[in-house]
Amino acid sequence: MTDNKDLSNTDTVNKSAARKPAKLAIVVPCFNEEEMLPITFDALLAVLEGMVKKQKIRDDSFLLFVNDGSSDKTMELLREASEKREHICCISLSKNCGHQSALIAGLMTAKDISDITVSIDADLQDDTSVIEKMVDEYYAGAEIVYGVRSSRQTDTFFKRTTAETFYKMMSALGVKSVYNHADFRLMSSKALEELSRYNEKNLYIRGLIPLLGFKTAQVTYERAARQAGVSKYPFRKMMALALNGITSFSTKPLTIIIDLGLAVLLICFIAAVYAFISYFRGDTVPGWTSMILSIWFLGGVQLLCLGVIGEYIGRIYAEAKGRPLYCIETKLLEGAGGDHNAL
Ligand code: UDP
Ligand code: MG
Repeated sequence: MTDNKDLSNTDTVNKSAARKPAKLAIVVPCFNEEEMLPITFDALLAVLEGMVKKQKIRDDSFLLFVNDGSSDKTMELLREASEKREHICCISLSKNCGHQSALIAGLMTAKDISDITVSIDADLQDDTSVIEKMVDEYYAGAEIVYGVRSSRQTDTFFKRTTAETFYKMMSALGVKSVYNHADFRLMSSKALEELSRYNEKNLYIRGLIPLLGFKTAQVTYERAARQAGVSKYPFRKMMALALNGITSFSTKPLTIIIDLGLAVLLICFIAAVYAFISYFRGDTVPGWTSMILSIWFLGGVQLLCLGVIGEYIGRIYAEAKGRPLYCIETKLLEGAGGDHNAL
């Protein structure tokens, strides 16, 4: 895929690596990050250039910033850096599309012009020094490397508890996700190619990645506090992301309706026994028995019917997503020969 220099006499490249030195793209979504960008440029360039110097990655590796419709000086800073500084590139979205859309725009742009990507937030809360470890894991054979926070001590109490509750809820709803991992990860262009087959519009990228399969690895790091500027993820955006995460990956809320309907019918049965005993003991006013039984029975039947409809909606939802059924990791088709009659 890439033309490589001869690096056989360097011991800095992983020796067990069958993989050629890669062209790395570090993808950074930015929304109103004018305070952060000067710091981010220097920090990420230092990491990139350090790895180029060690000949771990190719020297045409680059940083790809995605301006997500910022209203401050973000785009001016990005334009100036792209023109004046080596290894810095950017794309700009026509309006604020949100972090997940900005990230996918960057990844899909980088997929065709690099071998591996690392996505990271502009505020450098994620430890840039583990990017090199991620690249090492790629050379050791991983197609996806997750950055996992070892703790959330620097997050506010509110952010920490809401985030942890959310991840626990996701796992209770049967959604496969990597605990304490956000969008700091390495992906090979092969994995990105597979990701591009998922046509979802309600994006929750960190939920999609585990669906891809492939060999994965994890690197852990301490999450730092934001170095400049304020969070661009207010509570409203966090809730929207969480809702997307749940509704895009779980039909459990729909199946719960059937369980609820069955539970109500069971209660109806118990209520019937109680109502009949009360009726025969003469403890009731006229009409009470039939009314109480109708309420419970109709409630249960209605919930059950809603649950059945929910089951069908769940299937329509899965079909509408059109997710790929499989992902081919290796093709060894030499033995099939090149010539065949066209169908
Ligand atoms: N971001 C974005 N578009 C948005 C909101 C955020 O591209 O609409 C970017 C932001 O510039 C940063 C990343 O997404 O690079 C994560 O945002 P932030 O660090 O503010 O979120 P937090 O760490 O507070 O959850
Ligand atoms: Mg942040």
